[in-house]
Amino acid sequence: MYLKSIKAYGFKSFADKTEINFMKNINGIVGPNGSGKSNVVDAVRWVLGEQSIKSLRGDSSIDIIFSGSKSRKALNSASVTLIFDNSDMYLPINYTEVSVKRIMYRTGESEYYLNNELCRLKDITGLFIDSGVDKESFNIISQGKIDEILSAKASDRRVVFESAAGVLKYKRRKMEALRKLDRTNSNIERINDIIRELEVNLEPLKKQSEDASKYLELKDNLKEIEVSLIAYDLDKYNYNIENMQSRIDELNDEIAGLSSNNSSYDVELLKKKEELKKIDNDINDCQYSLLELIKNIEKIDANVRVLREREKYTKNNDKISSNIVNIKERILKIDADINNLNLEINNYNSNLVSLNDKKQVINKLIKEYNDKKNKIANGIDKNNRNLTDLNFKIEYQENNINNNNSLPSSIKNIMNNPRLHNCHNVIGKLIEIEDKYLSCINIALGSASNYLVVDSSDDAKEMVKYLKDNKLGRATFFPIDVIKSRSIDDVTLDRIRKVEGFIDIASNLVKYKDVYHNIILNRLGNIIVASDIDTANNISKMINNRYKIVTLDGQVINVGGSVTGGSAISKNNLISEKYELENKKREYDRLFNNNKELEKEMNNLLKDISIKEKELYDINSNIINIEDIINKNKQDLDNNKSLKDNLVRELKDLEAINKNNSDSELESLFNTYYEAISNKDKEEARIEKLKRKKQDLHDSINEIENISKQSNNYINNKEKELNKLELNLSTINIKMDNLLLRLSEEYNMTYQSAVNNYKLELEEDLARERVADIKNSLNRLSCVNLGAIDEYKRVSDRYNFLNSQKEDLHQAEDMLLEIINEMDAVMKDRFLKTFEEIRVEFKKVFKELFGGGEAELTLTEPDNLLDTGIEIMAVPSGKKLKSLSLLSGGEKTFTAISLLFAILNVRPVPFCLLDEVEAALDDANVESFGRYLEKYRDKTQFILITHKKKTMEFADVLYGITMQESGVSKLVSVRLEDIKN
Ligand code: ATP
Repeated sequence: MYLKSIKAYGFKSFADKTEINFMKNINGIVGPNGSGKSNVVDAVRWVLGEQSIKSLRGDSSIDIIFSGSKSRKALNSASVTLIFDNSDMYLPINYTEVSVKRIMYRTGESEYYLNNELCRLKDITGLFIDSGVDKESFNIISQGKIDEILSAKASDRRVVFESAAGVLKYKRRKMEALRKLDRTNSNIERINDIIRELEVNLEPLKKQSEDASKYLELKDNLKEIEVSLIAYDLDKYNYNIENMQSRIDELNDEIAGLSSNNSSYDVELLKKKEELKKIDNDINDCQYSLLELIKNIEKIDANVRVLREREKYTKNNDKISSNIVNIKERILKIDADINNLNLEINNYNSNLVSLNDKKQVINKLIKEYNDKKNKIANGIDKNNRNLTDLNFKIEYQENNINNNNSLPSSIKNIMNNPRLHNCHNVIGKLIEIEDKYLSCINIALGSASNYLVVDSSDDAKEMVKYLKDNKLGRATFFPIDVIKSRSIDDVTLDRIRKVEGFIDIASNLVKYKDVYHNIILNRLGNIIVASDIDTANNISKMINNRYKIVTLDGQVINVGGSVTGGSAISKNNLISEKYELENKKREYDRLFNNNKELEKEMNNLLKDISIKEKELYDINSNIINIEDIINKNKQDLDNNKSLKDNLVRELKDLEAINKNNSDSELESLFNTYYEAISNKDKEEARIEKLKRKKQDLHDSINEIENISKQSNNYINNKEKELNKLELNLSTINIKMDNLLLRLSEEYNMTYQSAVNNYKLELEEDLARERVADIKNSLNRLSCVNLGAIDEYKRVSDRYNFLNSQKEDLHQAEDMLLEIINEMDAVMKDRFLKTFEEIRVEFKKVFKELFGGGEAELTLTEPDNLLDTGIEIMAVPSGKKLKSLSLLSGGEKTFTAISLLFAILNVRPVPFCLLDEVEAALDDANVESFGRYLEKYRDKTQFILITHKKKTMEFADVLYGITMQESGVSKLVSVRLEDIKN
């Protein structure tokens, strides 16, 4: 390899495009002082990557750009190209010619090109490192630097030997490896810091995550058991309902059947009673006939006796006459009795009619009372069902309020956390409100009913931090030590007090403990309560809309006059829940009282019914008595009539006796008498038969009445059972509704999916115990942070990842250390070997150049081959010098040149660029120097910048550099013959 040419444009004094083509052997560059020769060396070193401005003889990097002259303007960039012949493939690149170019702009930007391809400086230095052509090499020696090798420190000198030993690339790689090692170490340090930081959080997060997992597990368990229990209960209730319903249907059928039986009994009874009546009539008729027959018999008997008496009286007419008179008197008396009896009977009959009328009225009344009684009994039943329903809902809602179920979870979390002290309660729970003010206070408080009252602002801060750390949501706090009361000014208050319909200031309508005075006044102290919206409007106008006004039914006139209103009050807050609960309790009391009234009414009715029944009984007894009396009177009337008839007949007979008598008449009378007796026996037998029939009918009626009574009792029992079942059914329906509501609200699940997916696998009692246990455990775990599970996973993943990274980095560190050790070994080996070789050559070359004398190279730290410096010792022949500084200028130059040649012997390099290295030598020594050069001409290309004619004689070609135009270097041809001659 050799340097074929240099092309420069704009570099220092080379303002024009200049190309210097070199020969392979010894080239000389000559020219007057300041013409720009040394700029050629600078150009070569600049292209090879020299960054030191000082060694390029400038103050800043852009000083190398042509800065202009009297006649030429400055240029904006500088570029230099070195073209190497690489046909021997000396450079490790697959090109026979290698061009390296550097351009710099006034902006300070630099570009490098390798074979016209833009590249990095690193690519250039990498290509030339250890080639003997890099900027560190001893074979490019700038002007005046030749004896620097002797004056430099022993440690600075080793770079020349390292370059010759070809270990610079190892050194550079080692530096890179050390930099990597450094970066690795700081990465390990950084990772260790993060790991330590993570470790601080990891343990508490692990605990939180375990708690949260346990919480979720318990929740799952609870869901599993509770949902299956609900499904089980619903199934059970469904089964019960089915059974009850079928029993209800059965009972209804049975009652309907029995009722229809009862009406058939009634029909039959009616029939039997009709029959009985007819038999009674028949008996009466028969008795009447019998009576007639008996009368007839008696009449015949009397006639017989009369006929017999007539025989006795035939001789005593006086006695007959007296008897006639007697009989006539008796007849008169009997007539009077008959009249009286008829009168009496008529009276009793009219009594009977009025009693029957009364009886009808009372019967109608009793029927009405019974209808009313049934209606009231139905009302009581209905109320009882509603009372059961309401009682359940009241208990449920009271439970909700006591357990704060309607409060936001953030607030519940704080109130249930035993570690958070000094938390009183939400405002809504710290006040007592009369029912009539519930609605308006609810509206006046609004969301403030859920504000938490705490002792101090520090407590509030702690609770806010707790919510934030655990991601539990938001809450508003009212610290007692901070919140100030608010009020309505006295003037306004005096004015509005006089307005009709003004109720009071909202804070005066609630009761609370003194300690909450400021809190309550802050929220309610400046809110006016009015009876209705018209009053509220009047007051608002009067006070120029300066205060908020709320009406008893919850309409609002805001500050400024805007109006908010509507129908119902909002749900889901503590006060509206209380409001609803109070409504329900009121409804419960109303129904309860209504039931009491109904029961009272029922008792009164029952009393009335029993009074009327007693009246009915008395009337019936009266009727029976009167009927008995009438019958008796009729009997008496009949007796009197028959007695009268007898007496009339006796009178007729006595009057006839007075005239005549006959035996044939007696015989005929006897015949009639026997016939009448026979008729009477027949009639009596008929009556006896009818009486037996009547007794049978009586028995049958009693029997039917008994059956009907039993059936009525039975129906009553069945109706009681039916009522009880219907009550139970509605209770079960309410329970089922509640279970379904819980299923949907707490577990977002339908009955069907609960039944399909959840089967109760525990004993029922055990399952209920488990549910209670789990709920207790959940309460104890109430303030878990669910986000901790993901957070712990994220942090522990990161922790594990960082640990594995740390492990990788430690491995990389070990590997780098191993590589460094290997490189150290190679460097030590090569350095020592090269040093020994150069030492031998240096001794030899020195002797040859100086014609004797002693020279030596020693290591300052032979045990530390990586850092050791190199001492040079040189004693020209016949001299006894102890220090290099005592050598003359020429001797110093010659010693340095000896070292250059020694190095070239050990490590031949493709080219040497030497700027006036021999300037201090005399002609004889220049001659020796020149001859030595000759030895290397075939191996090494020399470019010598020189003023010495002797040196020029050794050159194969000479290049002249002049500065004809002021400030611009030019290349001119110089003929060797001119020099040599
Ligand atoms: P000597 O023989 O005395 O060592 P030389 O031939 O080596 O001299 P150089 O040191 O290479 O000369 O060149 C120095 C010249 O380059 C000076 O005239 C200087 O003004 C000129 N020069 C350096 N930098 C710039 C620049 N940026 N623009 C223009 N000219 C510059």
